[in-house]
Amino acid sequence: MLGLMQEPPLNISSIIRHAARHHAAAEVVSRTVEGATHRTTYAEIEARARQLAGALRSLGIGAGDRVATLAWNGHRHLELYYAVSGMGAICHTINPRLSGDDITYIAAHAADAVLFADTSFAPLVAAAAPGLRATLRAVVFMTERAHMPDIVLPEGMDLLCYEEIVAAAAPLAAWPELDERSAASLCYTSGTTGRPKGVLYSHRSTLLHALASNMKDVFGLGAADRFLPVVPMFHVNAWGSPYSAPMSGASLIMPGRHLDGASLADMMNAERVTCSAGVPTVWLGLLQHLRASGKRLETVERLIIGGSACPPMLMRAFGDEYGIRVDHAWGMTEMSPIGTYNMPKSSNAALPPDAAFRLREKQGRVMYGVDMRIVNDDGAELPWDGATSGHLQVKGANVCSAYLGDAPGSALDAEGWFATGDVATVDAEGYMEITDRSKDVVKSGGEWISTVQLENIAVGHPDVAEAAVIAARHPKWDERPLLIVVARAGVTVDLASLRAFFDGKVAKWWQPDDIVVVDELPHTATGKIQKMALRDRFRDHLMPPAV
Ligand code: ADP
Repeated sequence: MLGLMQEPPLNISSIIRHAARHHAAAEVVSRTVEGATHRTTYAEIEARARQLAGALRSLGIGAGDRVATLAWNGHRHLELYYAVSGMGAICHTINPRLSGDDITYIAAHAADAVLFADTSFAPLVAAAAPGLRATLRAVVFMTERAHMPDIVLPEGMDLLCYEEIVAAAAPLAAWPELDERSAASLCYTSGTTGRPKGVLYSHRSTLLHALASNMKDVFGLGAADRFLPVVPMFHVNAWGSPYSAPMSGASLIMPGRHLDGASLADMMNAERVTCSAGVPTVWLGLLQHLRASGKRLETVERLIIGGSACPPMLMRAFGDEYGIRVDHAWGMTEMSPIGTYNMPKSSNAALPPDAAFRLREKQGRVMYGVDMRIVNDDGAELPWDGATSGHLQVKGANVCSAYLGDAPGSALDAEGWFATGDVATVDAEGYMEITDRSKDVVKSGGEWISTVQLENIAVGHPDVAEAAVIAARHPKWDERPLLIVVARAGVTVDLASLRAFFDGKVAKWWQPDDIVVVDELPHTATGKIQKMALRDRFRDHLMPPAV
């Protein structure tokens, strides 16, 4: 017997409709590319998104067509999220920090029909357009006529102005009802190994992810929150916040292109931000600015950190010096992206402060809708003892099953698990801790050494600004850890003190065999350290010189 309940399809348009009707006055505040502060509301965003959807129709966009964006976090980007998915097309957010070659590759691979871009990306667009002649019909700059960039596009490709096409369009009277399994948005992984791969989210996966991430032990946003996503809308949908914030009625404060400590602190205070999310580098910048300027964050209650491991010193510094809670989260593009979030259980209440803090450093427990397990090289499941590390696998409604262009299910093993490429431990209470990337872990004499743990220790040393540990080839142990560091500005790294800094923090045999000081470390488009490039350069650093 079937249930007798209503079955509205889980469509993304339902989020903005809800926000417009029940949180009509909740704000969307954006710092524009031109430098002004733009204020609008969910009611206006919904109305303009319907009008923009009408404009997309006039441009010939229909169900399943790809509409690309190259844009910072701002109100027009939010309108595009809802207009494109809401009308049944696919919103393809492109990461402008990718190489020009990768941008052309993914826009062609996705067969993007129209590209919306912030004016600051005009040179990128001009460079990429000739390579996209086959599918790209128009470029729309997200601005008014007065600020339109003057670029030349290939013949047959239209150059349009966002505000003009919106003003000229007839709005959709209502959002269409779509099959909830239909594709809604597309995001490419940053391709640290090989070409980027497309992850194609559905309406259903996006909605379930937003609902689960709004639970109290995850992002848990509420109508009293003013949320500032530092994490860009061009990288895994700003961790789903353009959906989870309007769903809960939280206001969205959009920082635009300036993500340095001073700009963020100013906006957080001016706009009474309560919660924000970003990668560790961003929070390091903010911390340095606060310490140097003596400023405080007046209204921020918590900062969410993910994307790479949160250095424990960040958690302590914000907590002890500024009274701000730092929450650690983990996920990946293939997971929409949230997998785990770290919040205590009632059974953890009696932990002594040091043990409680140690627990907070972990990446956390899975949110509802995600399951995980760790396995050895042969695929056998490993125990949850907090010590045994293995390959981390996941499954769930917000986990991808195949990359764009591949057969459904092709990214999964026979039992439906997706291999994250991460190495982790899980403790008896289900707290997961990432110890490495599968391809980064140091395999010393058959034992695994966590490069993440060694890096966390290194960045805690006062002379060190940034650190990376790589597996260097070793004549006796196959691989040994090599520490590569960048000195803090104006400081010379005291190597003896840095070496001694590891004593008592990890076993002797885990300690780096050598330390190299470099001027800077190479980074990927998403700000992660490019270990592959470091391995290429330093792989043989510990080998005897060739004779
Ligand atoms: P990319 O496109 O670079 O893969 P993702 O955001 O998808 O970007 O990266 C996901 C990967 O980032 C994860 O598999 C993991 O290795 C790393 N990561 C994300 N969050 C954390 C975290 N809190 N701690 C450690 N590593 C993390």
